Amino acid sequence: ATPMALLVGTTQAMKKGLLIRNAEAIQTAKDVGFVLTDKTGTLTTGEPVVVEHNLDEELLKIVSGIEKKSNHPFAKAIAKLVNADIETQHFEEIVGEGVKAIVKGREYFVGRPSDYSHYEKQLEQGRTIVEVRVDGEIRGFLALEDKLREDAKEAVEKLKKMEIETIMVTGDNERVARAVAKKLAIDKVHAQLKPQEKLGLVRKYQSFGKKVMMVGDGMNDAAALKAADIGVAMGSGTDIAMDSADIVVVKGGIFKVVEAIEVSKGTLKKIR
Ligand code: ADP
Ligand code: MG
Repeated sequence: ATPMALLVGTTQAMKKGLLIRNAEAIQTAKDVGFVLTDKTGTLTTGEPVVVEHNLDEELLKIVSGIEKKSNHPFAKAIAKLVNADIETQHFEEIVGEGVKAIVKGREYFVGRPSDYSHYEKQLEQGRTIVEVRVDGEIRGFLALEDKLREDAKEAVEKLKKMEIETIMVTGDNERVARAVAKKLAIDKVHAQLKPQEKLGLVRKYQSFGKKVMMVGDGMNDAAALKAADIGVAMGSGTDIAMDSADIVVVKGGIFKVVEAIEVSKGTLKKIR
């Protein structure tokens, strides 16, 4: 495309609430065959609430205090439960897994369960489980619910009409992922993924010979966003996701992805 055409596309996209960090992305978007999308914060609002937990007051205070140091959507929800400032000797974020901290000589882990079989009832209801382990021993859980983004269903529908396949790639549990996918009529789900596995899936779909767009919001999406032909980050997400993306959704939700593709197609007509 000519510089002028790229400028026109970029300007149109900006007016729609998209920040174009890489002008080429708007040119490539017309050829997208697969949209890989994260769940938490991308298909959902990313403002989950804790709906149940079984921690005693003391443990809740520590867990809440630890989560204050993370900006993961689940961490923010948990941090809100108690207004606690906790002194940690060590804090570590394990991307896509959870957080680890040492408090008063004990090691706390708050995050993805190592074995989901304890939580069948919660998972059935589409709730995300965060487990608490102290010195390696399971001490409790928190169950969280997150609402779907208003425009998510329409976005998936529209992509289908454009003959683009939408595929969920999430770090969350398979059952929770399937519950969300069903509501949105997403056919393909890859769940319980580590960041490197999200990246691996981008490569796998690229090998089918069509352009791959990855949409995400978290630290755990950064590598996949970079590897994708077009990386789209939600503006509500983490800085690392935005820095890794070609396009940032500044205003609105995942439906903006559809608009980016439409702009791309429109731009092309003008060039010819
Ligand atoms: P998604 O890929 O859908 O955005 P994530 O990879 O961010 O989901 O999270 C995967 C799982 O890891 C969550 O379901 C949660 O159990 C756990 N997790 C990740 N980070 C945290 C955190 N800071 N606090 C609690 N749990 C976390
Ligand atoms: Mg996410």
